[in-house]
Amino acid sequence: MRARFPTTGRPASDVLASLREMKADDADWRGGRVPLYVFKASDAVDELGKAAFMEFFSENALGARRAFTSLKRMEDEVLGMALDLFHAPDEAVGAMTTGGTESVIQALQACRDWNRARRRDPHHRGNIVLPETAHPAFDKGARLMDIEVRRVPTGPDLRADAARMAAAIDADTIMLVGSAPCFPFGLIDPIAALSDLALARDVWLHVDACVGGYLAPFVRRLGHAIPDFDFALPGVSSLSADLHKFGFCPKPASTVFYRNADKGGHNGFDLDVWPSGRFRTGTIVGTRPGGGVAAAWATLTHLGEAGYVEIARQLMAMMARYRAGIEAIPGLQIHGDPPLTLLAFGADDIDIFAVAEAMAGRGWLPGLTQRPKGIHRMMSMIHAGTLDAYLGDLAACVGEIRARAALPESRLTASY
Ligand SMILES: *Cc1c(COP(=O)(O)O)cnc(C)c1O
Repeated sequence: MRARFPTTGRPASDVLASLREMKADDADWRGGRVPLYVFKASDAVDELGKAAFMEFFSENALGARRAFTSLKRMEDEVLGMALDLFHAPDEAVGAMTTGGTESVIQALQACRDWNRARRRDPHHRGNIVLPETAHPAFDKGARLMDIEVRRVPTGPDLRADAARMAAAIDADTIMLVGSAPCFPFGLIDPIAALSDLALARDVWLHVDACVGGYLAPFVRRLGHAIPDFDFALPGVSSLSADLHKFGFCPKPASTVFYRNADKGGHNGFDLDVWPSGRFRTGTIVGTRPGGGVAAAWATLTHLGEAGYVEIARQLMAMMARYRAGIEAIPGLQIHGDPPLTLLAFGADDIDIFAVAEAMAGRGWLPGLTQRPKGIHRMMSMIHAGTLDAYLGDLAACVGEIRARAALPESRLTASY
């Protein structure tokens, strides 16, 4: 039944009680039973993020240039810190956005308009070439801007296949995409090979580091083998990285960067068409929560490199135990060799979706991958406390499913 607009209001305390009551039936992320959507470094980092957000709860980042110059300053500092982290040249530019989707759409628009300008063809319809593991945000942007999408199968290692991508390029290709890492398997595409390809064919390469961009550099500092994926590679034109995922900042907060002002110059919006005069925004959206900006600034400033390296150390120690636990269960196989804290695993001889259903029955919300079939997990410190319980239930569920040999195939489908 459709809700009716309330004729009389209810007391605030009563409304708050309702919120808590409704929430009681939600999936238990605090208890580590949700493998995505929420990311956590520590209680202290969460508390700081909340306090910083509330400090700027009412301020609107749309007014950062004219009214809330503190927000403009914080935004510039966040972008500066990130450009430093991603080995960007001095002339690089960037913008804060509300999420990975906005960052990706913004990069796509900047790339399209830069291409139209250099081709002197304001109506050029381009295409983008991306590995099939790239995030659907690219298709979302392409649909908005009528850009053709060419999804290319990955190699047998489930990473972007540079040769296949090269074969998909034609005269109208405006962008190549690589992920660092990709969402489905947590694998970093061969960005160095894609960078060479981008230079050789004179095509813009976007690196989608939305999920792992703020984690991979620190995991690398620990000595793990993380390949180059950022502006250190000369063919990288733009890069997206989400602060609100493994940057452990409150939502909404993401970033998008361009190698130089020429490419970045097509980011954002600046037009004088209506009675109110010139209208300028740094990105696609208008009103944005000031809290997101302040909380990102506070989190980066508080943690610094040392803080992020320490979180990375804890995460990788936990990941090693999860990996060992999964690999110790006969028949289970991790897809590829994921270098960060997201992974997917499948099974040789049983239906992994049936295992996911059995796990759901035990209160674990499953993340899934469809091709190949797998259980998908993005792990942060929320998942540290339930490691043994999860692995114990997983082993038990695998055993149950294997014992029921003639089970019909699970009708579960992966969806987000
Ligand atoms: C999460 C994600 C996005 C989209 O980010 P949102 O913040 O959910 O809009 C894009 N690319 C990758 C690789 C992601 O993991």
